[in-house]
Amino acid sequence: MFCYQCEQTARGIGCTKAGVCGKDGVTADLQDVLTHLAKGVAMLAHRARQAGGALDPEVDRFVVEALFTTVTNVNFDADRLEGLIRRAAEVRARARGLYVEACARRGLEPEALAGPVAFEPAADRQGLLAQAAGLGIQARRQSLGEDRAGVLELALYGLKGAAAYVDHALVLSERDEALLGWFHQALDRLAAEPPLEELVALSLEVGALNLRAMELLDRANTGTYGHPEPTAVRVSAVRGKAILVSGHDLKDLALLLEQTAGKGVNIYTHGEMLPALAYPGLKRHPHLVGNYGGAWQDQQREFEAFPGAVLMTTNCIQKPRESYRGRIFTTGLVAFPGVTHVTSEDFSPVIQAALGAPGFTADEPERRITIGFARNAVLGVADKVVAAVKAGKIKHFFLVGGCDGAKPGRNYYTEFAQSAPRDSVILTLACGKYRFNKLEFGDIDGIPRLLDIGQCNDAHSAVQIALALAQAFQTDVNSLPLSLVLSWYEQKAVAILLSLLHLGIRNIRLGPSLPAFVTPAVLGVLVEKFGLAPVTTPEADLRALLRTA
Ligand code: SF4
Ligand code: SF4
Repeated sequence: MFCYQCEQTARGIGCTKAGVCGKDGVTADLQDVLTHLAKGVAMLAHRARQAGGALDPEVDRFVVEALFTTVTNVNFDADRLEGLIRRAAEVRARARGLYVEACARRGLEPEALAGPVAFEPAADRQGLLAQAAGLGIQARRQSLGEDRAGVLELALYGLKGAAAYVDHALVLSERDEALLGWFHQALDRLAAEPPLEELVALSLEVGALNLRAMELLDRANTGTYGHPEPTAVRVSAVRGKAILVSGHDLKDLALLLEQTAGKGVNIYTHGEMLPALAYPGLKRHPHLVGNYGGAWQDQQREFEAFPGAVLMTTNCIQKPRESYRGRIFTTGLVAFPGVTHVTSEDFSPVIQAALGAPGFTADEPERRITIGFARNAVLGVADKVVAAVKAGKIKHFFLVGGCDGAKPGRNYYTEFAQSAPRDSVILTLACGKYRFNKLEFGDIDGIPRLLDIGQCNDAHSAVQIALALAQAFQTDVNSLPLSLVLSWYEQKAVAILLSLLHLGIRNIRLGPSLPAFVTPAVLGVLVEKFGLAPVTTPEADLRALLRTA
């Protein structure tokens, strides 16, 4: 195995024997085979679309799911991955059929395609693992060189991140045919392994694609559950039986809320599910009582202490401790060997586990934090914000957040938020916010100094807010008194970074360390073109950002 797709990669170089995340070599190699096959499906689906062939939702969905499955901390289960590889071969045959049929209708000769289209997966596990050696990153590093292979991975990881968002939207029946076609086209171009300059351009195009994916998911979430609204949510436990829901899939939470109504079980959010508590369509359930715990990397300690059942709807799952292995469940694409996998149609095993567990025996002292400042809520008070800026009461905006991780060095974000001047407003999103979201920041003329925009995909909201501010001040986003200080961990953060670069946003600070797949030469391009810089110390970065504002 060789994997360097996330920030915690071994020694900042790459995981080779086993992943720091817990992914074993077999799983990593099978993920490489699956990714290769997904490219083959996309190549054929792209050509079928171009030839005016019929659209096949199963083919579209499979490509998205295959990529999402390989995102960090989603699927650790080699058996499930092998099953997906077998299915990929079937789906590819369907896509081939669409292409051949479309060509026949138009009197065209189908292209003779090699690479991922011609690849035949071996019949057994050992054979697949032997094939994986030629399909992974190391093989590409040898054939393409470090720079080209690295940028190819950059674009691929962006696509993986975007796939997660598209999948969540598809779950809520929100489809964008053009976006799905764009996905196939991007994978087709990636599979052709073009020259470096083209790969850099493709990476920025993936950023554009991801913007559209986040917009699609925003439409799906707000169309189904309403616009998030500022909500003081409870972050301390209440007496009673309990289920803790983590991950990002709002529909899973909604279905669980319906299936637990009247059963005497309280539902809590964990990690990236926290923003769900601000959606009118979800918070209307009285047994959705609040949030428990913090970000994903605290789960082993927090799940162990939680006296109920735990449901993981997506990443980030970690290897469960024995103490809670019998009461943690996965659903959707997330999977871990030995953990019971349930479907959202029937969460009864989760409910039974919660009823069998002790639950909280007493109310904890009530504590609340306010969330729900997505685009609709912030733009609803835009006049007030603009007036505070014009009156000199708000001098700067910081967007501090992103994906959190387990490596030391992430206290930077806590210290940065705490050191931000009193006349600045901090916008935050994704699980990185747990570094400071329970601290007191006060307000400026009634505008909270800490505005929690939501999940990582709500970067779409952050972009809308920035664009609206730019419009109000008749300028562009780069000329606003706005600085982005982002933490990254996995591939959704890569997708978001590419989206911001695609928008031409400059001087982003990125940490806690830079991606291993970005070589010094490629970093040089990003620094020169976008002023992208690694984080240093909170004091030095604050000084520099306020000076250049
Ligand atoms: S996902 Fe991250 S930690 Fe896991 S194997 Fe890959 S680089 Fe290593
Ligand atoms: S936002 Fe946080 S919880 Fe979600 S995938 Fe990224 S690191 Fe994991």
